[in-house]
Amino acid sequence: MNIILMGPPGAGKGTQAEKLVSKYGLVQISTGDMFRKEMKEDSKLGVIAKFFIQYGHLVPDDITIDIVRERLSKNDFPNGFILDGFPRTVVQARSLESLCKELGFKIDAIINLDVDFDKLIKRLSGRRVCRECGATYNLEFKPSKKPGICDICGGELYQRIDESEDAVKIRLQTYTRQTRPLIDYYTMKGQLININGDQSMDDVFKDIEKCLGV
Ligand SMILES: [Zn+2]
Repeated sequence: MNIILMGPPGAGKGTQAEKLVSKYGLVQISTGDMFRKEMKEDSKLGVIAKFFIQYGHLVPDDITIDIVRERLSKNDFPNGFILDGFPRTVVQARSLESLCKELGFKIDAIINLDVDFDKLIKRLSGRRVCRECGATYNLEFKPSKKPGICDICGGELYQRIDESEDAVKIRLQTYTRQTRPLIDYYTMKGQLININGDQSMDDVFKDIEKCLGV
């Protein structure tokens, strides 16, 4: 089972992907994670990616397609994969179609998490991550006991560079401008499954399971 998981940043794609991974043994392929890893390692690709991501922009198609091609070519997903954060544009979707043909994969479901943008801005710009253990908090929904300090390990909490309020707004604008055409593209092809993302994470997952029919 190969799935594309779509939705604006902060819609809960990561959480749903985790649930899909643990229930069906799928491998999550997140372009965001792959780019963050490159940035952390200060690789050439990481430096280029950071240039775009820090201002809330998408990494250009050719670079993104290359990193996905490299990952899919490993072919190490016996139960299938979840694409998270890719494709983001129609150009990327077309590239993915030829990539799938070339590598012998089939996409079984394209799931879109539909959410309210105002709620998203609040949720996203309030996120804080622990520098030490990676635990996540939210100023509004899940604050740490002491401001700026991780409950679990006492590490320092920070705001991801792409989660400042300005970067979030630009990301959502970028998302709308570049990804809406992709949603229209998949809708026209009759492939898009819309899921209401404005409900609890468990209810969202129940809806996804229903749509997958497994
Ligand atoms: Zn911590």
